[in-house]
Parts: sequence; structure tokens; C-alpha cells
Amino acid sequence: MSNSNLSPSTPASSLPARSLKSIWHPCTQMKHHETLPLVPIVRGEGVWLYGPDGERYLDAIGSWWVNLFGHANPRIGAAIHDQLDRLEHVMLAGFTHEPVVRLSERLIGLVPGGLGHCFYSSDGASAIEIALKMSFHYWRNSGRPEKSGFVSLQNDYHGETLGALSVTDVALFKQTYAPLLRPSVHVPTPDWRCAEEGITPEAHARRAAAALEAHLAGHHAETAALIVEPLVQGAAGMGMYHPSYLSLARQICDRYDVHLIADEIAVGFGRTGTLFACEQADIAPDFLCLGKGLSGGYLPLSVTLTSDQVYQAFYRDETAQGFLHSHTHTGNILACRAALATLDILEQDKVIDANRARARYLNDAAKPIAAHPLVKNFRNCGMIWAFEVDAGDPGFADRFFQAAMAQGLVLRPLERTVYFMPPYVIGEGEMEQLVAGTLKALDSFG
Ligand SMILES: *Cc1c(COP(=O)(O)O)cnc(C)c1O
Repeated sequence: MSNSNLSPSTPASSLPARSLKSIWHPCTQMKHHETLPLVPIVRGEGVWLYGPDGERYLDAIGSWWVNLFGHANPRIGAAIHDQLDRLEHVMLAGFTHEPVVRLSERLIGLVPGGLGHCFYSSDGASAIEIALKMSFHYWRNSGRPEKSGFVSLQNDYHGETLGALSVTDVALFKQTYAPLLRPSVHVPTPDWRCAEEGITPEAHARRAAAALEAHLAGHHAETAALIVEPLVQGAAGMGMYHPSYLSLARQICDRYDVHLIADEIAVGFGRTGTLFACEQADIAPDFLCLGKGLSGGYLPLSVTLTSDQVYQAFYRDETAQGFLHSHTHTGNILACRAALATLDILEQDKVIDANRARARYLNDAAKPIAAHPLVKNFRNCGMIWAFEVDAGDPGFADRFFQAAMAQGLVLRPLERTVYFMPPYVIGEGEMEQLVAGTLKALDSFG
């Protein structure tokens, strides 16, 4: 590939030292990098990331859950190249372009029923902000401004801008900034790891739904929407739950006139085994937020889809009753081309079916991980695998990351939860390498 070498003016070996001073890295205590060097990456190919001296790492977490079809994917790359020579961007206020129209029509045809309107942004948190603002503004335009509160699940993650952080329930990200946030309510999670002994995942989901119902029975008049991460609560440590929670939540929201916002930013585009996680409960939300894999992980792109009923409540003569959210790069044409190429691959390669075989292979290969004495709750949903490691030290996540890198694997545990979210192009041999390397990393904690 043409990008296999760094340009001579950028010696790779000088990258870590310089970036340590000039770049403030995300989700990082920078001081830890005094002892833990940053890892320079110069190119990628398929599931592999390559360092400057040709060392390679299997990207088992899809570069923070975004990569669906491998790094330097030639089909997505070709679409972006083709677009780049014609138009890189035009603002979407007063203007339109064919890729954004085609992408919207395709998405509308693919998502669970009845969501016919797409509003674009660039990151997942913004897609959430947009859904929250739209839901609030819908009730206001409908003469019910008191419906302004939001409910989410205990342990939910919806991003870290102030509005998205308000409906997030991950203490590490939230506590410090709590005084800046609007209060919101977190109802019990259906995550089966939290179930009492002897309770099935389905029964646990029903109990959680009963708690949601009890809350909304008392507070629906001031509640605009319930927001959930369908089937898998990612940042909480890949907490998985029974789809019956989603069917019940849909019924409860309907009963109490509360919107349902499905945050499929992490789980959309086949990650849970169906194109969208909501399909497994046969429900359609009022708002669907997509991001991460939407562009195949290539370019920042997110979208909030909603129903005609919501759209119509804004369709008035008054500008101030229209939806007020102006994001400069909304509907960027390059990102739309990457997304269209991603949808092409999903369809043409029958990826959802192919992933079933992949998941079977990895589940089989991973039996020794499930049986490892330090491993608890080994679980799988579609193309997500996770387990907790019973290793008693608080620095586990950092130490496991290093142990995995020594095996040529990118694995970045969420506290004690190790997870795999590989690109869908992972081959059988690569899955075996993933399992063997994970076992070796685990053994170093024995
Ligand atoms: C990653 C994520 C977000 C936030 O997306 P960003 O692009 O990081 O802002 C929101 N919700 C879920 C479920 C996510 O996994």
C-alpha cells in the first residue's frame, strides 16, 4: 500500500517524545505516560496496526469500537478518494448533495420501522445531544413543556459532552463534573451480571422493567424520554441483557407518553448479530442515534433518526419552532461517501450472515478462556465478547493492556472487564492468535 512508509521528514521514532508534550490524550492521566510509553502507529491493514519498525498489533477492539471492515480498507478508501477530487465539503444549511440524500434514504430503509428523518452530526455525543434537544423541543412545541426530564439506565454511557454526560451513569466520567450537569434519573439496569443468584437473565430484565414502570407511573408528566443502550451497555463493561427489557420498555414508554431514545452508537451496524440491536426485540425507538461504525470508522460521522410524528411537530412557519442545532460539518460529503461504502460492504458481502460463522468459530476457540481460573462471566453477543478477570489489583486494566501488547494484541480492559470487539474481517487464524495471546496475557496474572 502507498502509505506504508512515513515521509522522511517525520521520523517515527521521534513521535512519542514529542507527542507526550504537545498532545493531551483522551481518557488518560498524562502522568502515567512517564512510565508507559505511547505506541506510535504508522499504518494499518485489515485487523492489524503496524508500528514504525514493522511490529504489529491485532486491533481486537476496533480502535474504540469504530472499525468494521479493517484498516486501510480498499473499498472505503476508493470511495473517499473518488469524492475528494470533486468536493470535500459544502454546508448543509440551504444546500444539499447526492451522497447525503442517498445515505439518508438507505438508512431509513434499513433501520427499524418508521424513522424517516435523519439529522447529522460528527460524534456520538452530539447525536445524543440532538436526540435530547429534539425530544424536549417536541414536547414544548406540543404544548407540554413540563415534559423536560430524562431517564436512563444505571451504568449507561451516552458520551461526555455536558448533556450526554447528564444521562451517563459512569462514576469516573461523571462525578467530577456533576455540578455542571442537569439532574437526571437512572433506573435499575437489566444487565444480568447484576441479577440475584438463581434469577434468569430474562426474569432479571422483567424486574428492571417493573422498576422503570414504577418510576414512570409517578413521573411521566415531567419526563420527555427514556434513553437506553440497547442489549449491551458498552462502557459499563459490556453488560449484556435480555431483549425482553427493550420490548417492555417500548410498551411502558407508549403507555406513559414518553419517548424512547435508542443509543446504537456502539451496537449498530451488526455488532450484536443483527443490523440494529433493537431488531432483536422487534421494536422501533422514537429516536435512533448512530455513530462509530456508521462510516466504517473512517471519518467522524453520526446521525439521529426520528419519526414523522416528531418531524411534523417542528414543521411550522416560525423559525424558532424549527429544530435549532447548527453544527458546521453536518452531513460532510466525504464522511457520507465512507458511510455509503460501508453499507455497500455490509450488503454485498452478506456480513451479518458471515459474522454468525465467525462468532461460532471464536466461541469455540475461546473455550479455554471461558474455563480459565481467573475468568468469570464469559459472554458473547454477536461480535462482542467479554469476561471479568479476578485479579485483585487496582491497576489491572493498564497492566493487562501491556501484557496483551507484549502478545501483539490491542486489548484495553474496562476496569476488570476484558472484551473483544474485532473488525468483522478477522480471519480464523487471527482469532486463534487472539485467543492464544489472551491466554498468555491472563497467565501472567496467575
Ligand atoms: C462511544 C459512545 C458514545 C459517544 O460517542 P463519541 O463519538 O465518542 O462522542 C455514545 N454512546 C455510546 C453507547 C457509545 O459507545
